[in-house]
Amino acid sequence: MDIKPIKIRLKITGKCNKSCFFCHKEGGDNIDDFLLDDDFINCMNEFEKIGIKNVILTGGEPTLCPDFEKICQYLSKKFHVTVVTNGSIVKDWSKIQVNKITISIHSLNPEKMIKLENIKRTKSWAKKEIEKIKINITNIINSKKEARINLVVTDRESLKEAENLSHTGIEVRLLNNLNDIKNSQKIINNFIKEKKATKRYEYRRMSNHTAYYDGELKFSTKISYPFYFDAICKDCSFKKKCYEGFYGLRLEKRGGYYVRLCLYKNLIYPYKDFLKSRMKNDFLKLC
Ligand code: SF4
Repeated sequence: MDIKPIKIRLKITGKCNKSCFFCHKEGGDNIDDFLLDDDFINCMNEFEKIGIKNVILTGGEPTLCPDFEKICQYLSKKFHVTVVTNGSIVKDWSKIQVNKITISIHSLNPEKMIKLENIKRTKSWAKKEIEKIKINITNIINSKKEARINLVVTDRESLKEAENLSHTGIEVRLLNNLNDIKNSQKIINNFIKEKKATKRYEYRRMSNHTAYYDGELKFSTKISYPFYFDAICKDCSFKKKCYEGFYGLRLEKRGGYYVRLCLYKNLIYPYKDFLKSRMKNDFLKLC
């Protein structure tokens, strides 16, 4: 069999200390925390056999998973490990065994940070969050690990934030807001023109287009576009409202481990069933 470098997103916890209005929570709610136990190890061994090389730890906020550091330590022996964190839980990243840290920072302005939350927050809460994020940025830089800042563009103010954050030396990636995809993409496209940025490199994955730009500012963009995986999307009545389409494999825990194939519908399969299915073969052909 042709083994390809493919990835899977592991939703290692459903818990999060933030409530950003645009968060899709990687699909389902009310899931269990992953544990570093035999079930998890067996499951990951099976994914390794089909050619998974990269794992992306998400949530919720993955650092809130009680086994977070043990899971990183275990996975990093077999896979390239990226963690996607909101950065508001201070960690010494030099001691955590991951290859790459992606920190999602959508604003370091207290008023805007409050606006981005779905629940009522105070200004003193926002200021404390910002302080923790700044400490984490320093810790990430000191760890000398590969890193990236993800910033969802909700308005033109986001671009000023992106410019300021790019002075940290960490690559800033502008993401479109899935709740207002057209407007967000328009703002990003105008920014590229205003900055007279030149595309250095680009690639397309199933449901997104990533491009790296040079110029007075170095940054990258990740723009979603709908990609439909026939095995699940062919007859889907939700297709017209589905912004991203199929994004890849996600793993979540509900007693046992399940593969999630869709963010919006409950298309989840016990991982062993998925790995025996034709869908798995169709998925591998896409990679
Ligand atoms: S909602 Fe799910 S099944 Fe339907 S088109 Fe989108 S990704 Fe495919």
